[in-house]
Amino acid sequence: MKILVSNDDGIFSPGLIALAEVASQFGEVVIFAPDFEQSAMGHAITIKRPLTYHRVKFLKEFESYRVNGTPADCVAMGLYHLGEVDLVLSGINVGSNLGSDIWHSGTVAAAKQGVILGVQSIAFSQAINGEEPNYEKQKPYVAEVIKMLTNGNQPRLVNVNLPEEPVGMCWTHQSVRHYNGKVVEGHDPNGRKHYWFAATPLTNPDEHSDRWAIDHDYVSLTPLRLSLTDDEWLAKLI
Ligand code: MN
Repeated sequence: MKILVSNDDGIFSPGLIALAEVASQFGEVVIFAPDFEQSAMGHAITIKRPLTYHRVKFLKEFESYRVNGTPADCVAMGLYHLGEVDLVLSGINVGSNLGSDIWHSGTVAAAKQGVILGVQSIAFSQAINGEEPNYEKQKPYVAEVIKMLTNGNQPRLVNVNLPEEPVGMCWTHQSVRHYNGKVVEGHDPNGRKHYWFAATPLTNPDEHSDRWAIDHDYVSLTPLRLSLTDDEWLAKLI
């Protein structure tokens, strides 16, 4: 099995190496990752300047390339370079991608790009408490997820979130309950105004949602689809 590994945290992320290490149990791994952090870029693609990619030698035994583009660009470049690929993996993101995060996530977008281009894909993200994770407790679950999802008749696109102390795994839905997206004003050292956009969930997560799973120390697996069509509304409207 040929596996393309990408992320949105960039080529230097410890989560990228952790994912590549687990993936190498299942096949030949090639890494295409952004040369700078591209978190919260969503599914942006680069169209106003040329893309380039360069081999890097510091990632242990893995054939690795850095790309001057977004996570979605990296997967497109990787599939172009490699031709046939059996599986795209994205992550492990430093920080969870739950609920509305999925709209902003470059980690999920890299996986989404794989599916758009015809390859089964899995996005991995990990909840963190501020310390750099070592992934030892998560790696067996990452391996189990890859094994399970590549075993035929499985969803093509799955968003996986890993808790700090996993106790098991469960299938979940995306939590989209009330968010508090607020603009916070601050001042720079010269007294000029600047702003942060801060989004935090306001309510307790609904049961069996992705956020609920992480709150209960389960590895959360959410099957995603590419269609954004509101089927309920469409059925009423036509
Ligand atoms: Mn990130």
